[in-house]
Amino acid sequence: MSFSGLIGNEHNKQILQRFLRRKNLGMTLIFAGPEGIGKRQFALTLAKVANCQNLPETNDDSCDICPTCQRIQAGTYSDVVTIQPDGTYIKIAQTRELINDVQVRPREGRQRFFLIDEADRLREEAANSLLKTLEEPPATSTIILLTARPDSLLSTIRSRAQKLNFAPLPTPEMEKYLASRFQLATPDARLLALLTGGRIGQATTIDLTEYRRERRELLELMDLLATGNNKHRLLKAAEHYGKQERDAYERMILLFLNLLRDIFLIAASGSIENIVNIDVADRLSLLAEKIGIAQLTKWIKKFDELRFNLRININRQIATESAFIGLAN
Ligand SMILES: [Zn+2]
Repeated sequence: MSFSGLIGNEHNKQILQRFLRRKNLGMTLIFAGPEGIGKRQFALTLAKVANCQNLPETNDDSCDICPTCQRIQAGTYSDVVTIQPDGTYIKIAQTRELINDVQVRPREGRQRFFLIDEADRLREEAANSLLKTLEEPPATSTIILLTARPDSLLSTIRSRAQKLNFAPLPTPEMEKYLASRFQLATPDARLLALLTGGRIGQATTIDLTEYRRERRELLELMDLLATGNNKHRLLKAAEHYGKQERDAYERMILLFLNLLRDIFLIAASGSIENIVNIDVADRLSLLAEKIGIAQLTKWIKKFDELRFNLRININRQIATESAFIGLAN
């Protein structure tokens, strides 16, 4: 994607385009902000403009169709190098290689880029070995540290780099973008914008049909719990969820908690204004009325507990049965 195709974080776009016009890109940058909001795409676009074969006169956007742009986007261009944690940390062996690599002249393009993913996972020793390189990379090398936790970077690193903060998109903008880019109907675009909280990179990871199916099941479970008089069906449901793999089970708990959050908001404020699952607002309002704030608080506590206990290897089926029967009483 080119700068003109990227939406949001306009201020950062302008800063990067100013760098590009200045032409000396030998520097270290920090791209800070939550996961999934497009930091990596901004870095790739910067690399594309710096190496594009069809630069416009303004020198500040990529064509996106030349082989160079396409290979940078696909991750197969030798002058754009990504460093990721090897296990939990970015290790000193990796930074040693990087220190040498940064000094090498571009192999096929005009400018080399080094993207350090999850830069907050640099071990102290590895980070310290990098300081000199970060402070003064050669004019043909740009180093970009990507992180969701900029405060975890050593201050000695932070002081050697220019930091750009990335923010999620406001919901209405995200909704408009999703509707036009993926040809989504308005209710779908709105739900996806709310579910992702404006983090554009997350939008392609959610399958709305599957999401709605799982949600429908959980709303039925809520009806069952709220009525509380059908122990047999509740036990059946507990068995069904308890038997799921850990990941699917955890996803169920999180979705249940998100729905409870919406219902709680409605119960507490009497308004649907700030809920996520806006497309089923009527159903959630009915549940809010049926369950009531006191019970909702208990439900949230219980499901938080189930989520927490996942860390210690609980018997999920037994824990779920006891939670469901306990809540239905
Ligand atoms: Zn190009």
